[in-house]
Amino acid sequence: MFDNEERSGLYGHLTARQHECCTFDDEEPPGKPKRHPLWRKVPKRQWDDWRWQSQNAIRSVRQLRELLPFSPEELEAIGALEAEYKLAIPPYYFSLINCADPNDPIRLQSVTSPLEANSSFELEDPLDEDKDSPVPGITHRYPDRVLMVTTHVCTMYCRFCTRKRATMVRGGWDAISRNDERMIEYVRDHPQIRDVVVSGGDPLSLPTAKLKYFLHNLRDIPHVDVIRIGTRVPTTLPQKLYDPELLDILESAEKVWIQTHFNHPREITPEVARACKSLAMRGMPLNNHSVLLKGVNDDLATMRQLLRALLRIKVRPYYLFHCDPVIGAGHFRTSIWKGLEILEGLRGHMSGLAIPTYVVDSPHGGGKIPLMPNYMVSASDDCVILRNYEGMLVRYQAEDKPTTIRPTANRGVSQLIQGTQTAIVPKESERLERRRQYLQNKPAQAEPAGCSETRDEEDPTARRSRGRKLVASLPVVAE
Ligand code: SF4
Repeated sequence: MFDNEERSGLYGHLTARQHECCTFDDEEPPGKPKRHPLWRKVPKRQWDDWRWQSQNAIRSVRQLRELLPFSPEELEAIGALEAEYKLAIPPYYFSLINCADPNDPIRLQSVTSPLEANSSFELEDPLDEDKDSPVPGITHRYPDRVLMVTTHVCTMYCRFCTRKRATMVRGGWDAISRNDERMIEYVRDHPQIRDVVVSGGDPLSLPTAKLKYFLHNLRDIPHVDVIRIGTRVPTTLPQKLYDPELLDILESAEKVWIQTHFNHPREITPEVARACKSLAMRGMPLNNHSVLLKGVNDDLATMRQLLRALLRIKVRPYYLFHCDPVIGAGHFRTSIWKGLEILEGLRGHMSGLAIPTYVVDSPHGGGKIPLMPNYMVSASDDCVILRNYEGMLVRYQAEDKPTTIRPTANRGVSQLIQGTQTAIVPKESERLERRRQYLQNKPAQAEPAGCSETRDEEDPTARRSRGRKLVASLPVVAE
């Protein structure tokens, strides 16, 4: 245990230089395994054992101050917060921190910050989960889904946790006082429930017998199609998924989908790749949700790197949550515009498989509301004007019917609405450049570039042919 190690002087030998010893390169994740020097001599067998990782997790400010540099003011502030909030960081996850960087994205997520004491309008239960709770521990909000809170324990306490009133706050769980049997009965008694989100805390931190109880009971309810396990264990303690007994239980529940929670590309490691592969090989689909967090992943390059890394380990990006207004997490919150700015740089630029849905979880229990940049620019009775990721504006006629608009001399988007022009394309377009080169090599198919499309071909064959010509001759209008 940590205390024994402390007594045996395991921390005493760390020098100031060793606070800066974690080096990080720009390699694409999963990269190479990393270890803080404190644990460099721990035998691999122990390092790979989740029990050892749990037993040696950093759980106090006293331990933290031996491992990371803090100012006296910071130490005093986080010392005061210790009485209120729990702390747990397994050595594996701690080793991902660049100790020299006070704003390191892994550190921000896991290490207590003095900023947690500043709260203005944030709430204890920002999503009103407890008000939509017909049975303690169950939140029934959507028609066919329920959330089931099964534990208050997590392998690492995320400083921005929406449910910190139950997980991170000391004694918070007692207020929930859920009843396992009543939760299962509620699902059994409501045939409209198709999808159960088993959450917490982290359900993969439950004792195996308890996890089995939940999963096997839910499996045996005929109207339940999906059991979704929301977990950060693959992120913070992937060694737990080396355990065949746990994998057997998950597999035997048959209906399990895993909902992972990765927020930063540096969280995708060889250990994580191994854990996710084990789950996928046991037939469990893996979807990820991330939280948009200031200083952690609120820039396009980081988000793209994270999404690519997730695909590389066959985890499908699913949701990007706007950070909830929970007490003590205000410093993580960005504007909505930041989320839209990131989404604008994803859709069309990356594989659709990599694009999460950006959602705000609404106050007053309104549930998830998706947000995205505007792709419909204008509309008329005849058509809509759509925008693609390049900034191309295109007239799209959904129904095959004669136009009702009498053309009037005009320009720009209005021309598209009138149908005298069918698209406005940015001059700098890699796609059109590729097309030009392709057409140059196929002169027989090429059409002269031009803007205007006339409506004098009424014959359907001629119209189809016109469509083909249009594809070949997209105009270049905008700078
Ligand atoms: S693992 Fe999930 S429930 Fe636990 S602290 Fe992190 S976000 Fe909250």
